[in-house]
Amino acid sequence: MSGNLQKLYEGKAKILYITDNPEILLADFKDDATAFNAQKKGSIIDKGRINCSISSKLFQILANKGIKTHFIDNPTPNQMRVKAVTILPIEVIVRNIAAGSLCQQTGLELGKVLLKPLVEFYYKNDQLGDPLLTRDRLYVMQLATAEQVDTITHLALQINKLLQEFFQQCGITLVDLKLEFGLDSQQQILLADEISPDTCRLWDNAKTDPNQRVMDKDRFRKDLGNIEDAYQEVLHRVIQVTLPQKNN
Ligand code: UDP
Repeated sequence: MSGNLQKLYEGKAKILYITDNPEILLADFKDDATAFNAQKKGSIIDKGRINCSISSKLFQILANKGIKTHFIDNPTPNQMRVKAVTILPIEVIVRNIAAGSLCQQTGLELGKVLLKPLVEFYYKNDQLGDPLLTRDRLYVMQLATAEQVDTITHLALQINKLLQEFFQQCGITLVDLKLEFGLDSQQQILLADEISPDTCRLWDNAKTDPNQRVMDKDRFRKDLGNIEDAYQEVLHRVIQVTLPQKNN
């Protein structure tokens, strides 16, 4: 519970609270699950704690590798204190293997390994159904400057590579992931939001069956069952890897 803290914003998966310090917000991870632009709704037992724990670990791993993130610490297992940022209304998707909307929109076969990671930008706008944006649309819509798009693209590829390597240590293939970035009070770009089985596609290396290998929100989207077990298993494997030494 978050006592008498004032709610700043309630999203589909998290509630953001204001704290005594204007530079710091408290993110409370919920068990609610949505898919297909919130047309499908449900709840995944203990998801808030699991996703908060996975995200926190991944943010710390990335921070150790020099990536600036909004993560500060965890006052409780399903809460994250974060640096206050203005979120850019762009979903940055990085794909290593074809799945989801890439297959639907291009006809690429599910599971096709891409020649190189693909970075895509989607407009965070539920009313418009989160459309795919071109770089020029980003400029026309004044969602980001050319320099910001370059920085975000570079960061997204770096983050993808680091997480691909990390998940391999957990026996998991990182198929694709969604990242969000925000600007702090100094206009610095920080990695924000969360990185969890809700926002990544994760396949178990030990399984070849296309349904059994799924350890992410596709279990909810496609009614594959055993969602809680899959999320818990990701957490179990992620927390077993010790944090690497900080690069100096
Ligand atoms: N994703 C997300 N939030 C969104 C849309 C996508 O976290 O609003 C994640 C999704 O879980 C997957 C990746 O981004 O790991 C690519 O999703 P895709 O474009 O294939 O969309 P989907 O078909 O999953 O809606």
